[in-house]
Amino acid sequence: MALYDFTAPRLFVDAPLSEGARISLDRAQANYLLNVLRLKAEDPVLVFNGRDGEWKAELAVEGRKAADLVCVLRTREQTAPLDLIYAFAPLKHARLDYMVQKAVEMGAGALQPLLTRRTQATRVNLDRMRSNAIEAAEQCGILGLPDVRDEMNFDKFVNGLEKDRVVVFCDEDAPVANPVEALSKAREARGNNAAKFVVIVGPEGGFVEQERALVAAHERCIRVSLGPRILRADTAAVAALALVQSVLGDWT
Ligand code: SAM
Repeated sequence: MALYDFTAPRLFVDAPLSEGARISLDRAQANYLLNVLRLKAEDPVLVFNGRDGEWKAELAVEGRKAADLVCVLRTREQTAPLDLIYAFAPLKHARLDYMVQKAVEMGAGALQPLLTRRTQATRVNLDRMRSNAIEAAEQCGILGLPDVRDEMNFDKFVNGLEKDRVVVFCDEDAPVANPVEALSKAREARGNNAAKFVVIVGPEGGFVEQERALVAAHERCIRVSLGPRILRADTAAVAALALVQSVLGDWT
């Protein structure tokens, strides 16, 4: 049996979910269900809010442009997001949209834009990031939204990392070596404690030496190579998160 029911559309709704709860949809959501998906009254829609699990709801049509959803039964219990921070130097528009969506699909519980010395974008459109995160969450079947955080200075972020957080530092200058070995050691060291890690990917211009030295000073830092080729930052995001999830995260 598939992990998730993908026959019904999924919507994130910021409203309490319980049996019989009626959810008023905003215009965009109503338009999507009524006019894009052409759903009819009583058609099923899966809803989640990050707190009450996932519910099967039925469409209550209120005219051509308005609709409500009425919760019928809980399909999945709420689960906690992985304590995985994806920390990255923001990119320009379309590539940032892509990177945010992939990070959500790959299981990031928090998205942390970092202002490194060579970061191209100095301002980050957090509303755009949040709407990309919602779209990805609805698509990939998770039960909550990642925490989209305000951009932060790189040094301040690294200095604020907890001592017990595993820091996976993707460094294009790291010697090419098998990253699985280093990550496996971190997994063994963790024992049965819950996963708690951050994956750091730099800007198109790469990291500067002071930034490398700062991260390397963190006692749980694992400096990893993502192979012998230089990856675009959005490619590195997917590669790094796949690697980390398969050894340290929730793919095992
Ligand atoms: N300054 C680099 C250059 O042009 O030589 C490019 C940096 S790369 C486009 C952006 C980020 O992706 C890097 O800072 C690093 O975090 C990650 N990355 C790309 N290729 C990598 C590799 N082979 N190993 C580890 N990290 C890599």
